[in-house]
Amino acid sequence: MKDEDSGIVIIGGGPVGLVAAMYLAPRFGSVTVLEKRPDPRSRLGAVGRSITVMLSTRGWRALSEVGLEDFVRSICVPIHGRCAHLADGSSHVTPYSRDRRPIWSVERARLHRLLLDAAEATPGVRLCFDQQVREVDLDSPAVVVGSRTLRCRLVLGCDGAHSTTRAALVSRGAREEVRTLEMAYQEIDVPGGWLDPSTMHYWPTGDGFFGAFPLPSGDFAGSLFMRLDGPAPSYASVSGGYDLLGMFTSRFPEPAAAIGDLAGQLASKTVSTITIASCDRWVWEGKLALLGDACHAMAPFMGHGMNCGFEDVRTFVGCLDSIDDTASALAVYEKSRVEEAKAISALSQQHYHTMANPPPDKAAVLVEEALRERLFDLFPERFVPLYEQCAFTEESYATLLRNDLLLESLVEELLGIHGPELVSAPASTLRARVSGAAAAITKES
Ligand SMILES: Cc1cc2nc3c(=O)[nH]c(=O)nc-3n(C[C@H](O)[C@H](O)[C@H](O)COP(=O)(O)OP(=O)(O)OC[C@H]3O[C@@H](n4cnc5c(N)ncnc54)[C@H](O)[C@@H]3O)c2cc1C
Repeated sequence: MKDEDSGIVIIGGGPVGLVAAMYLAPRFGSVTVLEKRPDPRSRLGAVGRSITVMLSTRGWRALSEVGLEDFVRSICVPIHGRCAHLADGSSHVTPYSRDRRPIWSVERARLHRLLLDAAEATPGVRLCFDQQVREVDLDSPAVVVGSRTLRCRLVLGCDGAHSTTRAALVSRGAREEVRTLEMAYQEIDVPGGWLDPSTMHYWPTGDGFFGAFPLPSGDFAGSLFMRLDGPAPSYASVSGGYDLLGMFTSRFPEPAAAIGDLAGQLASKTVSTITIASCDRWVWEGKLALLGDACHAMAPFMGHGMNCGFEDVRTFVGCLDSIDDTASALAVYEKSRVEEAKAISALSQQHYHTMANPPPDKAAVLVEEALRERLFDLFPERFVPLYEQCAFTEESYATLLRNDLLLESLVEELLGIHGPELVSAPASTLRARVSGAAAAITKES
């Protein structure tokens, strides 16, 4: 690689960097993607991880706009809901949407290889592997790789949670927050044939869970989520002699009986930590922008990190397309995304409780929850469950979060005025009670 003017430079060849390259090269010319790792399509670069990621409407929109929807769909599995397996042996399915639309699960490594092939085939895109960017010069702008400096027109930091690009912004006064989540996970291979492949399955324990996602092969990609530190059960306690196999067998007897070589897998599979990162500045003048996990690495429980990153790319390109001055375009991009990322990061963190705790049975459902359910049924156009809206619409995450808080206030107010008996009131009474207040909520959205 020569010391030359390289057009647009993208740091990081993960899903977000590759999708960004495919959007940008046809519009703005030469795009160089610098990736620190070897090419995963070569044997040397293969990491052999089995994790799956969920694609929802926002992600599909971007994949469709770069012409990849059909290719990606062909390697995905549709998932219609989540099935909780409870300690008493019963199970409970929560559909992802009320009309049974699926979200789609794909092996991350397979999706990555497909995106690498597609980006490489895009005229104007150059992928460079084994190129770790050590430093970013915001003023030129330029990036330093090894002993070389690569000058360019625009730098995009798509370099994930531990972003070097974000560090350059922090050195100029941006404030970042980076921390390791208290839950860590191990990927465990789960054979198929005993679980319904149209849902994901999870076994909540209150302080963690085991989840299994269907794969195209019919098998499942499992993940054991357990506390990283602290007293047992935690990964830290394993090194002090804690019996991980015994814990798994007693807490998750069904999967334990089905998984081959469980002891070997638990002993040998890597324990992965999860980094959460955010930053209050995403751009520098007209020279640099952060996208994807580099500016919003979030908890994985909602399955939106990559979807949100793809949405960043669409917004970013939309700003460049519609605003001539690059510095103004980048400023508008930052302004329109920071609150979005905050909202979905907060929701993703909250969703941990949905996955780790058994869903309440009908009799024990809180009166607030029961009233919400009735509102969803009676006003299907006005009130839609939050998870469904995040997954199946492209509505602003921040607006969805705000509306959900308004719905919470409405429910509290209605119960305060009319008492818990409102939950079982006839539909006509309930309609009359809520219509005025519901209209106010809809107006806000
Ligand atoms: C367990 C788990 C489950 C998840 N499930 C989902 C899901 O269901 N749905 C969803 O939407 N998201 C999910 N996510 C989140 C998703 O994986 C991330 O949001 C997504 O990978 C972010 O893509 P990215 O390209 O921004 O960053 P990354 O995937 O982290 O890619 C960054 C790239 O930059 C490279 N890089 C880093 N530093 C440098 C450097 N200095 N120089 C050159 N290259 C560099 C890295 O090698 C890497 O290839 C999940 C995450 C986890 C951990």
